[in-house]
Amino acid sequence: MAETRTLPGGTGAAVRMKRGDRIEIKLAHGLQVVDFWSMNAADFGEYGSMSHSRSHWFRLSPRPGDAIVTNRRNPIVAFEEDSTGGAHDTILPCCDLKRYHQFGVEGYHRNCTDNFHEGLRALGIEPPPIFLPINLFMQVPLGADGTLMIVAPRAKPGDRVVLRAEMAIVGVMSACPFDLLPLNGPDCKVNDVDYRLF
Ligand SMILES: [Zn+2]
Repeated sequence: MAETRTLPGGTGAAVRMKRGDRIEIKLAHGLQVVDFWSMNAADFGEYGSMSHSRSHWFRLSPRPGDAIVTNRRNPIVAFEEDSTGGAHDTILPCCDLKRYHQFGVEGYHRNCTDNFHEGLRALGIEPPPIFLPINLFMQVPLGADGTLMIVAPRAKPGDRVVLRAEMAIVGVMSACPFDLLPLNGPDCKVNDVDYRLF
């Protein structure tokens, strides 16, 4: 599939990638955080681990050329290109329904946890236990006293990343539906995202 597809804002999708396959994720429709999970296609017990990756980079976020590593410290997905220079979050877990209820939302609200499950089931895969994604284009500054903040992305509309699979993987992305803080941009609006496998 070389054609560009649009991931509607607030929804998720899963993809299979062979070693060397690339996925471009592009902010073609405005600012938007995209949670991205990667799993070894042959063994979901091995997955892209943010804590192991931070230990590998010795930074909170990857620089262009860096690879996300697994819980077994193997490279799984590399940042072949990154027009943001690494403006991504690796600290916060993805949103789930309880998070919205904690913010006072009543009833159902779309969330990245359900998007992870739905995306995998659409590929015919029974989801493994969810784990910490990399939150592409998300900005979570760390204060000198250890305080975390959620602020609007430093990324700009038109920014993109190209991720290269370093092993056969199943990747899942979620255009985060969070609309209660300026996580997806100062207007708290959720936008579509374009992606392309090549
Ligand atoms: Zn989310």
